[in-house]
Amino acid sequence: MIVDMHCHLDLYPDPSDVASKCIERGAYVLSVTTTPKAFLGTFKLERIQGRIRTALGLHPQLAHLRYGELELFDSLLPRAKFVGEIGLDGSKEYAKYYSLQLKVFRHILASTQRQGGRVMSLHSRSSATDVLDELVKFPNLGIPILHWFTGDSFELKRAIDIGCWFSVGPAMIKSKKGAHIASLIPKNRFLTETDGPFGAVKGEKLMPWDAPTVLPTLAKIWNLDLEDVENLLQTNFKNLMVAT
Ligand code: MN
Repeated sequence: MIVDMHCHLDLYPDPSDVASKCIERGAYVLSVTTTPKAFLGTFKLERIQGRIRTALGLHPQLAHLRYGELELFDSLLPRAKFVGEIGLDGSKEYAKYYSLQLKVFRHILASTQRQGGRVMSLHSRSSATDVLDELVKFPNLGIPILHWFTGDSFELKRAIDIGCWFSVGPAMIKSKKGAHIASLIPKNRFLTETDGPFGAVKGEKLMPWDAPTVLPTLAKIWNLDLEDVENLLQTNFKNLMVAT
């Protein structure tokens, strides 16, 4: 079973072709967006027969350019079952917009809470503590999934205690630090992703159907057979979907 819980389908050179190939392969894809304006166009990629679902997002790296779309975010939210990509980015390039990012993030969390909560895919690069601080301020937000988590072990433990889930992809697990983080994530909160087309391995953009390439590494980390890993991840995905 192919599950990609964080993929930017709309940002591949030929989104429609990638969507068709996902459908052919029976892939379950959470197609995240980076701006509210991209939601409706990206939503069309779901098609009738597919297992693609579209998330409404406003990426923290675009917060300073797109905060004017928050009203649109709010008006689209009732029809969006998933929210993402949202969050904060404290890395050097984006730190100068951090206070604006926080405003945008808080607005989105408040709106999501008002709408009864959602499954959310969250970016927390160099900002995990602040992301978690915000999440606890808004009870009944739904299920937060920390995508490509790079925080420290203290932040990871706190995220687990708060009830976060995690999505891990091939690019993350290839790094020593990423594999270490993956080994500390509870098995029953673990999901696969690619972050394609941004996620890449050896210069090759990841495609949604590359998500299961993390399984052999997980089998090693968890000391389980590949089949057991497959079953476990399948159960996680089903549990998450039942909760939505
Ligand atoms: Mn992303």
